[in-house]
Amino acid sequence: MRNRTARRSAARSTRGVARAAALALLAALAASGCRAVPRAGAGIQDALALGEGLLAEEEYALAKILYEDVLKSDPNDGLARLGLARAALGLGRFQDALHELNLAENGRGVDAATLQSVQIIRGRAYIRMGKPPVIVWAYLYPIWRKGDTAVKSCLDGEIKALARLVPPETEGARAVMGFVPPPRPAPLPHVAREEPPPMPAGQLSILPRARWNPSFPAKVNQMRPMNKPFRLTVHHSAHDDVDSAETLAGTARLIRGMQESHVRDRDWADLAYHYVIDPKGRVWEGRSIKYQGAHAGNEPLNRGNIGIVLMGDFEETQPTAAAVANLVALIAHLRRTYGIPPGEIYGHQDLNPTKCPGRHLEAVVKKLRAAKG
Ligand SMILES: [Zn+2]
Repeated sequence: MRNRTARRSAARSTRGVARAAALALLAALAASGCRAVPRAGAGIQDALALGEGLLAEEEYALAKILYEDVLKSDPNDGLARLGLARAALGLGRFQDALHELNLAENGRGVDAATLQSVQIIRGRAYIRMGKPPVIVWAYLYPIWRKGDTAVKSCLDGEIKALARLVPPETEGARAVMGFVPPPRPAPLPHVAREEPPPMPAGQLSILPRARWNPSFPAKVNQMRPMNKPFRLTVHHSAHDDVDSAETLAGTARLIRGMQESHVRDRDWADLAYHYVIDPKGRVWEGRSIKYQGAHAGNEPLNRGNIGIVLMGDFEETQPTAAAVANLVALIAHLRRTYGIPPGEIYGHQDLNPTKCPGRHLEAVVKKLRAAKG
């Protein structure tokens, strides 16, 4: 009898610990800057379900359509598998997520950075599945130990919460608690020094305008306020050579070149578009979303219309998987933020007689517009 009571109370306290740990995780994730923050006002269960945060229902639907399309022609495409894994995890389909992660790990075109993403996402899946902290620790700690500062910072929330739950003498627990993540980098006064990591597919983070535009200001007084966006339009830049967009500095120069040409040659107030996606999948802030863009053809069409441009010419060539994956992530984020329905997703040629965004990218846009939800 006493035993049973003791067991029951132990079970209760384990649940308490798990719940406290989960809340600590969420708080840390929100602070860590590498996860999306759960919706304000969500209950604890909602918040837990949103722990992965980045992928919600509609993004899952979009991701599935696109990734499954890629997988039809190449079932071993590692990035597409990773995208599906993130989508499954976002929906709490843990077994599906783990299955896709296993396929991603052995998939084609998977580089070291993508493998790290696979491991981080698998660790998060274990946490959300409620695996015992020591088991998750045994998986995640070696990844943290071998990881560079970016990986350590990204895992900082989870790993510290785990360190508090494993026995104090556990190898690495003290090292983890002693790690201080560097402050988030301030916008650089001049175009970026070289940094290796292209954004892993599906992990949306937006490079601020200051990374490409230190000194060529927009003519703010000539721009109209955007108010609440209600539609978005996808473009291609028609660059026939984007080899220099391999590096951050090279891409920054290309974006700056577009802005200068829009301002000097077209007499627009600023870069036409609100977001730029380079072939590595990096997403860059363009014209401030506070202001109406200059991309859709005329003033009425630009009203409430977010402009997104992918660098390249997609009439003859395919956009990269990384660029498409993060276009999907960006569109899902914008749809969530502004409540934009799929029917309001356009390619430039849907609004104006133009080849933009090229037939290959237009095919992607059509699928996004046809997505349910
Ligand atoms: Zn266009």
